[in-house]
Amino acid sequence: MKTTPQQRPGHPTHRVLVLGAGYAGLMTALRLGPHAQVTLVDPADHFTERVRLHERAAGRPDVTHSLARFLHRTGIEHVPARAVALDPEARLVTTDDGRRLPYDRLVYALGSRTALPTTTGDSRAYTAESADALHKHLRDRPGTVAVVGGGLTGIEMATELAETYGPLGTSVRLISGGRVGAGLSPRGAAHVHRILQARGVQVEEGRRVATPDEIDADVVVWAASLVPNTELAVAGGLTLAPSGRVAVDASLRSVSHPEIYVPGDAGAATAADAGGELRMACATALPTGIHTAKSIARDLRGEEPEPFAFGYHFQCISLGRRDGLIQFVNPDDAPRDRLLTGRAAAVFKELVVRGATWFIRRSARRL
Ligand SMILES: Cc1cc2nc3c(=O)[nH]c(=O)nc-3n(C[C@H](O)[C@H](O)[C@H](O)COP(=O)(O)OP(=O)(O)OC[C@H]3O[C@@H](n4cnc5c(N)ncnc54)[C@H](O)[C@@H]3O)c2cc1C
Repeated sequence: MKTTPQQRPGHPTHRVLVLGAGYAGLMTALRLGPHAQVTLVDPADHFTERVRLHERAAGRPDVTHSLARFLHRTGIEHVPARAVALDPEARLVTTDDGRRLPYDRLVYALGSRTALPTTTGDSRAYTAESADALHKHLRDRPGTVAVVGGGLTGIEMATELAETYGPLGTSVRLISGGRVGAGLSPRGAAHVHRILQARGVQVEEGRRVATPDEIDADVVVWAASLVPNTELAVAGGLTLAPSGRVAVDASLRSVSHPEIYVPGDAGAATAADAGGELRMACATALPTGIHTAKSIARDLRGEEPEPFAFGYHFQCISLGRRDGLIQFVNPDDAPRDRLLTGRAAAVFKELVVRGATWFIRRSARRL
């Protein structure tokens, strides 16, 4: 009979609790598998490719992968529950099914979510997180759609919806407080605007919207504000950075509670080459997850964790299924003049997205 890592003689018995099975948490858990007793807490029985949620809204059948397949023969235990309380003094996490999970090291990888302004009870309002419901609505009822937010998520959502539902009679507007694609190079932004126009997306720039009910449309897709899931951290007394993410040191440990590591969107990781705090992205969640695993493995061996180093290479933006933009950037994320566009960019982006999941799977196979 095969033994799990925990059953191997002499295997370390340090308890590492990982909260969140997104890009950062799943990567950390898998990389740490051979070095500790790892428990992964997430209410879902699947890993969601969050970077494909706009594709799901446009009808892609599935953007999830069974967690059991990632964790098979790794010895990592999955607790299918939501973490509801964190007590750093007792080193204990409580879940919504009443479990009390003790830990020696905690990985707080609860990610982020789109903050839909709470003053609204507007049933026309959707976010990337409600992509399933958005797809069902638009499939059955053509009409007018307003996407709010001219950042990368808003651009991806507007082009994807226009490409899919435009031919079925739906019209799409993209509303932005500033310029759409403001962080891109001038040529990059021009390409985005060209494709938006080609897909029939009407762009409204310089319009600030506080809540969806200010907008005259059948459906409002809010893509304006990504907020870190830090409620548990705040209640547990962890110090936050000015950005609202958990403040971490160079090794990604909470500055107030060094036994807690915070990779991914929830933590305010910084890197000198990257020019300061990293942006919330899959592109940063994976490397911070890997580094967290390395840091904890060192930490549990009684060694000092090493500082995190990171620099950006490119930003990948899908513009529907047939076009895209690869904006090459300097290590500090500042756009260069170099671009890839058109079908080649769409293929590049698809390979990057697939590559992220493949890379996580490969970590599991290496255990
Ligand atoms: C439509 C869209 C397109 C995007 N495109 C890109 C892109 O092209 N490139 C890019 O780099 N980034 C992109 N992003 C951003 C990227 O998806 C996030 O930055 C990334 O998912 C962050 O990874 P994470 O592991 O930190 O958190 P998440 O992926 O958010 O995972 C967090 C996990 O925590 C779990 N969780 C939450 N609360 C609890 C709780 N209380 N208890 C237990 N578990 C909990 C969740 O179920 C989830 O599994 C996109 C985002 C969206 C919405």
